[in-house]
Amino acid sequence: NSRYKNDFEELCALGEGAFGRVMKVLHKTDQQEYAVKIVELKYPYNHESNKKLKKEAEFLASLSHNNIVRYHASWIETWTKSSCNLEQCTDESTGGTEKTSLSSDDHGSTGSVIPYLFIQMELCTTTLRSVIDSKHLGHEEVAKLFFDIVQGLKYVHQNGICHRDLNPNNILVNSEGRPKIGDFGLARLTSGQCGKPTTLLSKDVGTELYRAPELTSGDYDSCADLYSLGIILFELCHQMKTGQERSKVLSNLRCEAIIFPDDFQPVGKLSWQKEICSYLLKHPPAERMKLDKILQVLSEEYPLQEFNISEIMDLA
Ligand code: ATP
Ligand code: MG
Ligand code: MG
Repeated sequence: NSRYKNDFEELCALGEGAFGRVMKVLHKTDQQEYAVKIVELKYPYNHESNKKLKKEAEFLASLSHNNIVRYHASWIETWTKSSCNLEQCTDESTGGTEKTSLSSDDHGSTGSVIPYLFIQMELCTTTLRSVIDSKHLGHEEVAKLFFDIVQGLKYVHQNGICHRDLNPNNILVNSEGRPKIGDFGLARLTSGQCGKPTTLLSKDVGTELYRAPELTSGDYDSCADLYSLGIILFELCHQMKTGQERSKVLSNLRCEAIIFPDDFQPVGKLSWQKEICSYLLKHPPAERMKLDKILQVLSEEYPLQEFNISEIMDLA
């Protein structure tokens, strides 16, 4: 009686992160493909932190915006964890005796019974990381991608969420090339205290390069996402060849003085790129450029683009 096994056909793995894995699946009934994120929970399944996580997933499923990954449904199933592959044990609603007889020492060891949270979401084709790495982006393309990301982030902030782990691996891209912010919310709750940054939990190499300086102190708000946005914009505008070059260049950008590389001197039509980056990368969070201001600047620079002006106007 596994909902996952009954309803979906597993196609392949899409990614693995600090909290579990993401699988590409086919829904047997509607014949649509989805991504299902499988997150390992704490034992037992009714652990207080699991309830919070489930609630968070349900909240995320209530969000709907073109530029954020759509969360369709979430549920908990209990499985045994035998060395590497998942083997289903019992459903959360059945066979409670087995689970309660396990001591907390069994958690994580071979063959123990572990609850997992399943999150069915919209399937995307790639990540912004792959898009950035695979080609040079023209300035109009950059403006379009960035405009969409900013709109998605605005919606996220309007709903009271601070992403905290915005980086090109967590921005997915669908088959139409539309960027979608993903992987938010859960990290905040899994790390326990709200003030605790996710640095130690993330497996993505180099994600600390996107983190706002104030995240280390634990005293931050949604302005922390603006900082990450600044690094992402820079990467959209300036392709770097190696990981080594990237970490060197980004480390310089992260200095309080915000040191841009010598070969990044956008002029004329492109000067907005450096200007917005400079404003987003300011260390004092309150001085960073606001999302509405960014949308305004972009729509003035690119008046003929199909930017969704109505979205900008709703807060103007
Ligand atoms: P992290 O270590 O960054 O916290 P995570 O466990 O939180 O990782 P995600 O970032 O949500 O997991 O997903 C990991 C990877 O799986 C992504 O970088 C992406 O490659 C892939 N992925 C996640 N969601 C989707 C999706 N909806 N469609 C396609 N691929 C996805
Ligand atoms: Mg991630
Ligand atoms: Mg994550």
